[in-house]
Amino acid sequence: MLRPSRTSWLLLSTLMLLVACGGGDAPGGDGPAVDPEQVVAGPAPIRLYIFDCGTLVIADAGRFSLMSDETSTLELSVPCYLIEHPEGRLLWDAGLPDEWAARSPFAQENGTLTTVERTLAAQLEELRITPADIDYLAMSHMHYDHSGNANMFAGSEWLVQRPEHEAAFGEAGGFFDRSLYGDLETAETRILDGDHDVFGDGTVVIKSAPGHTPGHQVLFVNLVEPGPLVLSGDLYHFPENRQLKRVPLFNFNEAQTLDSMDLIEDFMSEVGARMWIQHDSAAYALLRKSPEFYQ
Ligand SMILES: [Zn+2]
Repeated sequence: MLRPSRTSWLLLSTLMLLVACGGGDAPGGDGPAVDPEQVVAGPAPIRLYIFDCGTLVIADAGRFSLMSDETSTLELSVPCYLIEHPEGRLLWDAGLPDEWAARSPFAQENGTLTTVERTLAAQLEELRITPADIDYLAMSHMHYDHSGNANMFAGSEWLVQRPEHEAAFGEAGGFFDRSLYGDLETAETRILDGDHDVFGDGTVVIKSAPGHTPGHQVLFVNLVEPGPLVLSGDLYHFPENRQLKRVPLFNFNEAQTLDSMDLIEDFMSEVGARMWIQHDSAAYALLRKSPEFYQ
C-alpha cells in the first residue's frame, strides 16, 4: 500500500482529525466548520472492504414500527466491513455465524428466513488475511446478526462501549447469544465511554449511539470516494426508519435511540458525511464487494 511521507501524513491526519471532530469548537457552530471538499483533496491511506455476511428476510415489518406498505422490501442485508489503515486492520461487525452456511437457508422460530452463502473466513482468505491479522474488532452491537463470528477474533483487541460490555456479560436478554461471542470475555478489551478515534488520526472513529442496545455504536470512516461515511450499525434498519424516524419496538430505549439519531444526523451534516444503512439491501446491492474496495 502507498504510504505517504511522514510530513504529508501528519498534515493529512491533522486535517482529518479536524473534520472528524466536526470543528465543534468553532464559534457560532452553524454549518460545516471544515469544507468537505478539503477532505477529498488528499490521498486517503485507508481502504474499506465489504463482505457478504448473510441475508435476513423478516416475516413482517411491524416490529420495526413500519406498516407493510411503508417498506418496499422485507429483506435485510448483513454486511461485515474491513478497514485497512497503515497502522492496522479493523473489522467492523462480525455478521451471521459462518457455521450457519451449512444449513442455509433456514427459517428461525420467528419466521425470519436466514441465508449465509459465503463464510466470512473464506472472504478474508480471498484477501490472504486470517483472523490473526485483524488488530481490532468493533461491533455496532452484540445482536446475533452483528456478532455471529466474534469468537473468531478473540485474538484481536475488542473495542466496546461500557454498557454493551456489561449487557453482553451480565443478565443478557433479547437477541444476545453469549455462545457467539463468549471467547471475547478473555480477549484484550478496550472499554469505551463514548467516541473513540481508532488510529488516532481522525480517519476511523467509533461514535457512541446508544438506544438500539445499551452500548450501540456507529463507525465514521473518512474515505476519498465515496467521501466521509458513517456505517449505521442498527441506528436504522430500513431507509424508511430514517425517513419516518421510526424506532423498532424491540429497541432497548426509544428516547435514547431518538437522541442518538439526532446526534449522528447532526454530526453527518457538520462533516458532510453520508450514511450507509447496513441492513438496506437495495443500497447494499449496488456497493462494491470484496475483493474490490473503497478508499
Ligand atoms: Zn442488525
